[in-house]
Amino acid sequence: MAAPVSLVAPHVAVRHLHFSYTLDGTPVFADFNWEVQRGETWAIVGPSGCGKTTLLYILAGLRRPDSGEVLIGGTPVPRPRASTGLILQDHGLLPWATVRENAGLGLRIGHFYRSKQARRGEPRPYPPDLPLHVADRWLERLGLASDAGKYPAQLSGGQRQRVAIARALALQPDLLLMDEPFNALDLATRTDLQELVAALQAELAITTILVTHSVEEAAFLGEQILLLNHPPNREPYIIANPGAGSPAHRASARYLDVCRRIETQLAATTPA
Ligand code: ADP
Ligand code: MG
Repeated sequence: MAAPVSLVAPHVAVRHLHFSYTLDGTPVFADFNWEVQRGETWAIVGPSGCGKTTLLYILAGLRRPDSGEVLIGGTPVPRPRASTGLILQDHGLLPWATVRENAGLGLRIGHFYRSKQARRGEPRPYPPDLPLHVADRWLERLGLASDAGKYPAQLSGGQRQRVAIARALALQPDLLLMDEPFNALDLATRTDLQELVAALQAELAITTILVTHSVEEAAFLGEQILLLNHPPNREPYIIANPGAGSPAHRASARYLDVCRRIETQLAATTPA
């Protein structure tokens, strides 16, 4: 009997990816294949320098494969796409703009590029119909309504990261990429934001890919966990982690087992 064929196209497909920063150096990815289904939450974990950020940037369209392809919704990504949300470690807020302006920044940039294509050379005033209320709604939802007029320096690290999340969600992304977003935060704030991401994921089902170097964070949030290795990465090493993100998961036997499996695998790949 023929092997069953999936009729559902993956949301993200990485096919025969080859990527190198230098012409003669070790490639970071060599004939690397990986698929993410729509609505899944993945954690990518691996030692420093293994290529986590590189992979995220390739998915974001900020770096191009040397060969092979990356398809999102069946389409190649030659440049950043409007419906991919990107949240970086340093949250990327503008220090001179208020919380409200920062949360609406993605919407404004998106409008700027769309109108640039439509009316080249003409002045581009902010239109009254720019849906900044969408950003306001997210600020409210994430507990930042009373901070909307403040500047990033007046916020805690956790609040800043919430603004970055509001900004990404205001764009109604179908794909959310996060690069070690909670690194600089204390444990309680970090746990709080992990639970927020899990709750939003349960509600919105946005395909989510979170890079982390924390074994516990990967095991709590990642329904699927991709372990990367010292370059070149050829075969993806994947751990399935059903139940991830649910409030009870952290206390489950599976969570502890997945933590142990990640640690064992990382220890096996770390050079002496
Ligand atoms: P990670 O995010 O897992 O720590 P990166 O994706 O940042 O790893 O880096 C993967 C590898 O590529 C590392 O060996 C790193 O030194 C190298 N690298 C990253 N960025 C650059 C760059 N801009 N130029 C050259 N090499 C780079
Ligand atoms: Mg990195």
